[in-house]
Amino acid sequence: MEPGRPSASNCQNAAMFRLLNVEGQAALEVDGAWYAVDRLGDDPALSDPMQAIARFAELHELTRIVADADEEGAGALVASARLDHTDVRRLGPAVPNPSKVIAIGLNYRSHAQESNLELPPSPIAFTKFPSCLAGPRDDIELSGDRVDWEVELVVVIGIGGRRIEADRAWSHVAGVTLGQDISDRAVQLIGSPPQFSLGKSFDTFGPIGPAVVSVDSLDDPDDIELWCEVDDERMQHSRTSDLIFGVPELVASLSAVMTLCPGDVIFTGTPGGVGMGRGRFLRPGNVVSSVAVGIGELANRCVAPG
Ligand code: ZN
Repeated sequence: MEPGRPSASNCQNAAMFRLLNVEGQAALEVDGAWYAVDRLGDDPALSDPMQAIARFAELHELTRIVADADEEGAGALVASARLDHTDVRRLGPAVPNPSKVIAIGLNYRSHAQESNLELPPSPIAFTKFPSCLAGPRDDIELSGDRVDWEVELVVVIGIGGRRIEADRAWSHVAGVTLGQDISDRAVQLIGSPPQFSLGKSFDTFGPIGPAVVSVDSLDDPDDIELWCEVDDERMQHSRTSDLIFGVPELVASLSAVMTLCPGDVIFTGTPGGVGMGRGRFLRPGNVVSSVAVGIGELANRCVAPG
């Protein structure tokens, strides 16, 4: 156990949280039911998912109120906060409006090898502009015939800062979620040197969700299993313990340059198995399914440009 990281075994009394964006409204998922955060916290500001992320420490307590409702006589409050419809199609991007979406390239050996590129000496970062973010069931609007999948662990900053030390990095993280760094390889690789950011920033090219999951709900936040399937065919399968630069190093490296703000998200890189290495790309009608154990699932259908 590294210092600064919450331990699941030490937190039996703290309630781990799962934060959803239900049509723009922050909600906590507890035992499969959804609860409005603003009503649980009796604070209208908490209906904004970005506010809820910035106040993530309170989400542990609000989740515990729901879990213990019978014992503490809070049943009426909890009942009033419960949302009627738990339809995953109502979910928006788990982090809807971050100030920054930073993504990391070539952060798994298997992906560097299939890309015929050398391992980077330090993290390679680019931006996905925040307007690319999409919900866990939203369609991916294909921009051309060389659009590719990239399943990734996504880190959500909770406590901002600059020059954050690696051994304190996890304590700055509100939670983690799952993402697809959808990439138009034709646009990404135009020119020399190539520019990554535009090819990865088409609207709908950043599905994230389904929930922001508290770090203490994961058995080991540095070893999360994740995979990606296209139409039920397994394309990528790895664990975040295979990251070249792990989450603590990424937070330290990025915050050495820039101030990280609450709600900022970091796509941590994709493992091998992308379409570019297979000579195969997404087509209208394909469904990209992504799973991270302990976080949840994305299922995004590909559609022709609107
Ligand atoms: Zn990526």
